[in-house]
Amino acid sequence: MQCVFCAIAAEQLPAERIYEDEHFIVLLDIFPLRPAHVLIVSREHAPFLKDLSGAASEQLLPLAQRLAAALRAAGYGEQGINVLINDGPASNQHVPHLHLHLIPRRSGDTARLLWRALTRFWPLARKRIEARLKQEAQQLREALSNV
Ligand SMILES: [Zn+2]
Repeated sequence: MQCVFCAIAAEQLPAERIYEDEHFIVLLDIFPLRPAHVLIVSREHAPFLKDLSGAASEQLLPLAQRLAAALRAAGYGEQGINVLINDGPASNQHVPHLHLHLIPRRSGDTARLLWRALTRFWPLARKRIEARLKQEAQQLREALSNV
């Protein structure tokens, strides 16, 4: 089976892309845990963080900081953002290809987050979510050009 993030990197699968450079592609998670759930995906197929090239590793945290600033500028995650890497299959990593999550949070949203964690792969409200993803991607592309 082909890796879904390799297919996105090769433009064989669509994605709501926000940014890309030589090491990373930034897109919206199509199964968001919270609104404007961003993924920084490595261009190289690195199953674990230890497999990521040194050049890409050096750029990952600065890029995450820039995305966090863009999220906040667009009104997401002003109260907090989970920045995390699930590193390996036992850590809730669904695609074995390095990706860093930025999940904007609000005070008191833990129950919603947990509910989404349980139901995010259910085919509920896909049209509404897809429309929201397009709108969020546009907002974040604009915000990123100003941070
Ligand atoms: Zn891959």
